[in-house]
Amino acid sequence: MNRRLLLILAYGLAIALLSYGVWRQAYTGEVARLAERGQADLALAGDRLTGELRRYRELAVLLADHPEVRALAEGSGEAVGLEALFLRSADKTGAMDIALVAPGGRVLAASTGGAGYRAPFVGRAFQGALDFSHAVDVGQGRRAFAYAAPVRARGRVPAAVVVRVDTERVEATWRGDPLTVFFTDAEDVVFVASREELVLRRRKSGGALPTGYPEGALRDFLDHATHVAAGFEIWTLQGGPYLPAEAIHLSRSFPVVELTAEVLVDTLPARRQAMLLASAAGTLALGLGAVLFALVERRRALALRLAAEAVANARLEARVEERTRELSQANDQLRLTQAELVQAGKLSALGQMSAGISHELNQPLMAIRSYAENAGLFLERGEPGRAGDNLARISELARRMGRIIKNLRAFARQESEAIGNVDLVGVVEAALELTEAKLRTSGVALDWAAPAEPVMVRGGEVRLQQVVMNLLSNAADAIAGQADARIQISITTDRGRVRLSVADNGPGIAEPERIFDPFYSTKEVGHSEGMGLGLSISYGIVQSFGGAIAGRNSPGGGAEFTVELDAAEVEAAA
Ligand code: ADP
Repeated sequence: MNRRLLLILAYGLAIALLSYGVWRQAYTGEVARLAERGQADLALAGDRLTGELRRYRELAVLLADHPEVRALAEGSGEAVGLEALFLRSADKTGAMDIALVAPGGRVLAASTGGAGYRAPFVGRAFQGALDFSHAVDVGQGRRAFAYAAPVRARGRVPAAVVVRVDTERVEATWRGDPLTVFFTDAEDVVFVASREELVLRRRKSGGALPTGYPEGALRDFLDHATHVAAGFEIWTLQGGPYLPAEAIHLSRSFPVVELTAEVLVDTLPARRQAMLLASAAGTLALGLGAVLFALVERRRALALRLAAEAVANARLEARVEERTRELSQANDQLRLTQAELVQAGKLSALGQMSAGISHELNQPLMAIRSYAENAGLFLERGEPGRAGDNLARISELARRMGRIIKNLRAFARQESEAIGNVDLVGVVEAALELTEAKLRTSGVALDWAAPAEPVMVRGGEVRLQQVVMNLLSNAADAIAGQADARIQISITTDRGRVRLSVADNGPGIAEPERIFDPFYSTKEVGHSEGMGLGLSISYGIVQSFGGAIAGRNSPGGGAEFTVELDAAEVEAAA
C-alpha cells in the first residue's frame, strides 16, 4: 500500500519534471523567436524616429540660409514678414514652432508670434555647429526635440534658426501599435514612448535634476524586476493594463538622436505556447501512466487471484490427504474387525459343529467297537479271513476319523495360510464329510456329481472349506424338517473362472440384499445355529481370493448360492 503510494508520488513528480522540461524548452525557444522579432521592431522604431526628425533638421538648415532670415539676423529685415514665413513652414512640416534666436536667448522672430516663446538652450549653434537637443518646454510643459542651425553672416553667427518638434507628433504614429517601445536619453529619462504610462519616467532615482527638465516634470520609473531567461533580460512589471506583465527587454542605441531605443516584447505568447505544450505532454504522460497503472493493477489482481487459488488448492489437498488418512485408518479398522469376525465365526461354527462332530466320531467308534468284538469272535472260531475283513473295516474307519479330526484342527487354527492352488472338489468333499452327520439327521438328499478330475482354483484350502461348509449348513438349516429336502452342488468352469453352486429347495431368501450384512440372521437368537456372521465372513474370504459370492432365489423356488473363483493357471496346476 505504502509502496504504491510512493510509486504514484514518484510518477507524479516525474510528470511534473517532464512538464517543466517541456515548458522550459518551449518557453526558451519561443522567447528567442519573440526576441528576434523584437530586435527587428526595435530597429524599425528607431529608424522611424530618426527619419521623422531628419526632416526638421533639414528644415532648420534650409531656413538658416533663407535671405529674409539672414537679413533679420543682421538687423536689417523685418520680423513680421519672417514670422509669417516661419508659421507657414511650421504648418506645412508639422513642426511645433520655428524661431530665430540671437545669442543669449533673445528671440528675433517666432512662428508663435514671439510673445510666449522661450528659446531652448542651443549654445552649440552659435559656435557654428548644428545643435540638437531635447527638453521639456518650460512654459507649456511639452516635450520637444529642437534643432538649431547657425545663421552665418560675414564670418559670424549672429543668430540661429530653432525648429522644435513635439514628441507627441512622433508618438502619434505608434498609437494603437501593440509594440511597447520607448526612447531614453543619457540621463535614463524616457523621452519618447509608445505608451503614455512610460513617458518622462526616470530609471535612475536620486541624483541631480538633469538639464532640460523643469522641476517636478519627472516621475519615478515603473516598478519592475528583471531576470535572465534564454539569454535575454526579462522584465516583470506592474504597469497597468496597457503594459505587458512580463516582457523581453531589448535595447539599441541611436546616436544620431542621442537616444537609446528600448522595447518590451510581451512574453505572453511564449508562456501560452509553453503552457499548452507542457500540459499536453503532462496529460499524455498522465494518460500513459494511467494505462500502465491499470495494467500493473490487473497483473497484481491476477497474481493475487492465483495466490488465493494456490492457497485454496493447498487447503483442498490437505483435506483430501486428511480424508485419505481417515479412510485408510477406517480401512485398517475394518480389516481388523473383519479378521476378528472371521475368528469369531470360526469359533461359532466350531460350537455349532461340535454336536455333529461328536456324533460323527461316536458313530465310527461304535462301529469300530463292534467290528473289533466281531473280529475277536471270528478269530476264536478259527475264521481268520473274516476277522481280517473286520480289521480292515476298523482301519478304514480309523482313517476316516483321523481325517475328520485333522479338518477340525485346521479349522479351529488362526488362519494365516497363503493363497495358492486348491482343489475345489477336495474342498467340497472335506466340507461334506464334516457336515454329513447334520445333513443325514435332517434327512436331506444330496445331489452332488463330483467331477472326476480335480478342479484347481486360487484360494486358501481351509478358508475355502469354511465357506463351503457355511453354505451347506445354511442350506441344511433352510430345508430342515422339510419333506423331499434336497441340496444340489455343482462345479462349472467358464473362461478362467470356476463357479461353485450350492442350491436348495427351501423357502428361499427373505431379504437377499441383507444376507451379507454382519449379524443379519433370521434364525432364533441364542439358537446354537445362528449368529448372522457366516455369510459376511464368507464374503470377506471369497473377496480376499479375488472371487465373488452371491445369493439369489432360484426361479424354481429355493435359494442358490454361487462362489466364483479364478481358475489356477495350467502350469501351476501341473
Ligand atoms: P446365520 O446362518 O447365523 O443366520 P448367515 O450369515 O450364514 O448367518 O446367514 C444369514 C441369513 O441369510 C440367514 O439367517 C438366512 O435368513 C439367510 N440365508 C442364508 N442361507 C439361506 C438359504 N439357503 N435359504 C434361505 N435363507 C438363507
